[in-house]
Amino acid sequence: TIEFVRATQLQGDEEPSAPAAPTQAKQKESIQVVRRSLPVFPFREELLAAIANHQVLIIEGETGSGKTTQIPQYLFEEGYTKKGVKIACTQPRRVAAMSVAARVAREMGVKLGNEVGYSIRFEDCTSERTVLRYMTDGMLLREFLSEPDLASYSVVMVDEAHERTLHTDILFGLIKDVARFRPELKVLVASATLDTARFSTFFDDAPVFRIPGRRFPVDIFYTKAPEADYLEACVVSVLQIHVTQPPGDILVFLTGQDEIEAACEMLQDRCRRLGSKIRELLVLPIYANLPSDMQARIFQPTPPGARKVVVATNIAETSLTIEGIIYVLDPGFCKQKSYNPRTGMESLTVTPCSKVGLGLSRVSMGRGGEQASSEAASASQRAGRAGRVAAGKCFRLYTAWAYQHELEETTVPEIQRTSLGNVVLLLKSLGDWGIHDLMHFDFLDPPPYETLLLALEQLYALGALNHLGELTTSGRKMAELPVDPMLSKMILASEKYSCSEEILTVAAMLSVNNSIFYRPKDKVVHADNARVNFFLPGGDHLVLLNVYTQWAESGYSSQWCYENFVQFRSMRRARDVREQLEGLLERVEVSLSSCQGDYIRVRKAITAGYFYHTARLTRSGYRTVKQQQTVFIHPNSSLFEEQPRWLLYHELVLTTKEFMRQVLEIESSWLLEVAPHYYKAKELEDPHAKKMPKKVGKTREELG
Ligand code: ADP
Ligand code: MG
Repeated sequence: TIEFVRATQLQGDEEPSAPAAPTQAKQKESIQVVRRSLPVFPFREELLAAIANHQVLIIEGETGSGKTTQIPQYLFEEGYTKKGVKIACTQPRRVAAMSVAARVAREMGVKLGNEVGYSIRFEDCTSERTVLRYMTDGMLLREFLSEPDLASYSVVMVDEAHERTLHTDILFGLIKDVARFRPELKVLVASATLDTARFSTFFDDAPVFRIPGRRFPVDIFYTKAPEADYLEACVVSVLQIHVTQPPGDILVFLTGQDEIEAACEMLQDRCRRLGSKIRELLVLPIYANLPSDMQARIFQPTPPGARKVVVATNIAETSLTIEGIIYVLDPGFCKQKSYNPRTGMESLTVTPCSKVGLGLSRVSMGRGGEQASSEAASASQRAGRAGRVAAGKCFRLYTAWAYQHELEETTVPEIQRTSLGNVVLLLKSLGDWGIHDLMHFDFLDPPPYETLLLALEQLYALGALNHLGELTTSGRKMAELPVDPMLSKMILASEKYSCSEEILTVAAMLSVNNSIFYRPKDKVVHADNARVNFFLPGGDHLVLLNVYTQWAESGYSSQWCYENFVQFRSMRRARDVREQLEGLLERVEVSLSSCQGDYIRVRKAITAGYFYHTARLTRSGYRTVKQQQTVFIHPNSSLFEEQPRWLLYHELVLTTKEFMRQVLEIESSWLLEVAPHYYKAKELEDPHAKKMPKKVGKTREELG
């Protein structure tokens, strides 16, 4: 068992009371009754009047108050979509866009994809009829490419603004600009926290509309001692809660899919072993790549007598609301991207999450409390998920001391800790209306100067910009493809090496990322053997190609996936992505062709996109070619034991070390072939050769 000590209590706006007979009774109520019970409902008219009177309105309300699902519907009912125009509502996360759209479609009694739809990268579930369009912020950003004035929209709602994703931040600047010359466009900025003053100031002092919350108190517990293995600690604590605490569902925050799957497996395993000694525990995961039918399960009411535990990424902090959660388990970690503009290295690391979500710090200070801190942060958002339907408890898997001393106050906006190649390329494509000069773009928080500079340099190296910093024809094509500039470049380069068929597959497989292979705990050996069977000389990109090709030959069979320990749904997604990319080839003037097994061509095309991400083996291990950073091949890689001299990597992930994930063996001469402007022959010389006496390196002729 794990010892928890009760520490603080988040005061609620409401007195603790018996849970208002939650799920079963609610089920029977009609959807309209539920709609009317949401905190935003009493303010419907007032809100619509404010929107009518102001072009830009900042809306603040606790998670679950009905901002995302209700406000677009109110606008629809009010006739904002009458003249064939649409309402856009952006979400930072794909899962949220899909699930919220599905919910709203149900509330409106329409089929998803008709009046209400969603649009996320590589998946468009909208039609001619769609007037309420939920979309990722990245998708709305891309809309600017085809419709720079967003003329087909009457209202744009930038939702979850407090998350401050890169795309949301860029949207702010662009929308502010559009709003100036489209006075009839309505702009709503919705946020779950008190930090709306920033948004208001940015939008020329736009008014803030506050939806009062509805919240029950939450008791906060800390562990007595630090926990070494938070995954194990999570599993133990869930069971502990399940056995000792009164009814109510549990929400656990973990950092990503791997961890979530591992935790779910451990939980199920232990429940199975305990058998009838404990009541039924439903274990439900939720993360971005989970198929939507599985996602929907977290919203289903818990059967009587059972308890539900939802194991989630931080998507459940504010984007999704799950009824019936009474207990929150927070290990205090999240996955965060960080970027070092000096080295150009982007990494995804598991870091302690930040401390104070304003929405809740207000609560913790009692009514009317003032707070000085800024952006939304995780720990209290997480705690707050417990107090929505009744008094709740939040168990933090760290000590009160750690909370005080080790957690950052707030999360740094993504724009300040990510590479900007993608966004700069997009902004450059919109350049004809005055944002040529990126340094003067209207940023809510500007990115570091070095990061912008490096993005420009990188785009120049990739051939997307010319020496004057102007977009080239190739750059314009790269912007057309909804993928990172390096991946775009790789696809464009496949024309030269006549291998676009293979490169499309590689691109699609890379974008479903690390969820191809399935490795159940009880069949680790079989699964690993199956994976090794796909290995091809050359590296991981070719392994991915091999998996896809064999799957396609099986007739895209799910049985084949099952037998080979390959995730069917990841493959299905890869197929979707591949089809979409194939559909875009014509626009970027790449013809379909196959290398017919000549994988050198495939590897060269990949190198043409990823010559930035190269490493060489030195006496002291791998070093990146340009920056001389120490890096390691990920143990899952097919090249882990081969240790080739030269390689490129798809991404760097910093966990215990800087790991290169998805690596490909290359020859240094290829770098001169694909990027002669970037590499000099000298820096590609064998490092050992340098140490040799001068004479040894010379040819017989040179020596005379
Ligand atoms: P906000 O955007 O203010 O956080 P939402 O509009 O997302 O609030 O949610 C309002 C309410 O709608 C939630 O409290 C929940 O009861 C309900 N709800 C939202 N999404 C779903 C869903 N997918 N399934 C069932 N109920 C949902
Ligand atoms: Mg919302």
